[in-house]
Amino acid sequence: MRRINFTLDDDTIELLASVADRFYGGNRSLAIRAAVESLAAHSGHEGWVITGFTPEEIHAETKCHCCATEFPTGAILFRPVFERGVSPEALDRLPEGKWLDCSQCAAGHL
Ligand SMILES: [Zn+2]
Repeated sequence: MRRINFTLDDDTIELLASVADRFYGGNRSLAIRAAVESLAAHSGHEGWVITGFTPEEIHAETKCHCCATEFPTGAILFRPVFERGVSPEALDRLPEGKWLDCSQCAAGHL
């Protein structure tokens, strides 16, 4: 453990005190640690992220990549478009193999 100094404005100090009192028995250090851990978990990491989908007519029975619902020949499924970006769901590498989502799952990604 090490003591560090940093500067906060009055509103932030008040908010910190309030969060510390409510959830961490008044311990501001614990409140700060939880806040930083939460920030790290939610701001994500760099990798491949889905930025859109292109519709594709399927020529054989195909399962949705996400919900595994089966779709018949002729149905329209959606192929993800990957770009480099930062997200909690970013993939370290591009997925191999077929990835087609149904419209509901595709909408859930965006
Ligand atoms: Zn689906």
